Amino acid sequence: MIVRRSLWLCLCVGVLLTIFSVTVVADDVIVLKSGRTIIGKILKRTDQSLEVEMVVGKSRAKITISTDEIERIEKGENPDNEFRKRWSSLDPKDLEGHNTLLQWCVGQGLKIQATQVRQRIQKIELALLKDKFPDLWCRPCGATGKINCLGCQGKGVEVSPCQRCAGQGTVGCRACSRKKEGSLDCRRCGGAGTYERFDPSKGRKVKTRCSTCSGKGKIECPTCSGKQKSRCDDCKGEGGKSLPCRDCSGKKALICKPCEASGVKGNPEKKPLPKEEVKKGSDAEKSEEAPPKKKPVIKKNPFG
Ligand SMILES: [Zn+2]
Ligand SMILES: [Zn+2]
Ligand SMILES: [Zn+2]
Ligand SMILES: [Zn+2]
Ligand SMILES: [Zn+2]
Repeated sequence: MIVRRSLWLCLCVGVLLTIFSVTVVADDVIVLKSGRTIIGKILKRTDQSLEVEMVVGKSRAKITISTDEIERIEKGENPDNEFRKRWSSLDPKDLEGHNTLLQWCVGQGLKIQATQVRQRIQKIELALLKDKFPDLWCRPCGATGKINCLGCQGKGVEVSPCQRCAGQGTVGCRACSRKKEGSLDCRRCGGAGTYERFDPSKGRKVKTRCSTCSGKGKIECPTCSGKQKSRCDDCKGEGGKSLPCRDCSGKKALICKPCEASGVKGNPEKKPLPKEEVKKGSDAEKSEEAPPKKKPVIKKNPFG
């Protein structure tokens, strides 16, 4: 049964809305100046008011909202559709527009879309920086302020190879590795492909094709299925242990020193270093300081 009720927007309606908006299938989103959101279908629109049908539990309710109360109306069935509309209507160089969209994504809980927007923002900022400092933007890092870690080729991990399999993850099959092509001599026929069998009808032994090896004399190694290799037990087939790269602490990139991570030679805008990097940098310096202190001890004059 459909219950149709006409309600004038008042405080009590507001309370109702916050309770039921969760169960409403989104059609149009009406954001009120009070900060409340109404989701429903707009039935009638006049200069003074808006008639909205909304689903309340199993029934529908019709409410009328005064236009003075409305901040804005957003059309859209679901946030992702809405996102795609906004995304495609944006100028790819519009930094402010993208920042607004990013905030919207965060507010809607659209994480993947937010990442997409963030990447676009980085691109725009990079382009702006290059425009601003056409001669000074840092070439080694492409104005990003970061350089791929050479220690790990930007992977963020170092693999210490397994001693037993030299990082291969596999070792030669014990059963067949010294034989050709991962095959073993057929045991039934002794590798001949045929064997002699007594035929009672003929009263003598006859040569019979070996069915086990189809006459080939060889069978596929059952231990490794002919692969000639088996998994290395020491590293469980992984070839070694993956550890976070020591050079970049697993971050895959290092700060660009020539531009002090600012992306511009000499850092003219005096951008501070990212906090984590400052900390890490001082750690690295400490470890670099340590060895020279030991050196005088080693260099003792043997003739002294
Ligand atoms: Zn740089
Ligand atoms: Zn084998
Ligand atoms: Zn055989
Ligand atoms: Zn291994
Ligand atoms: Zn690294």
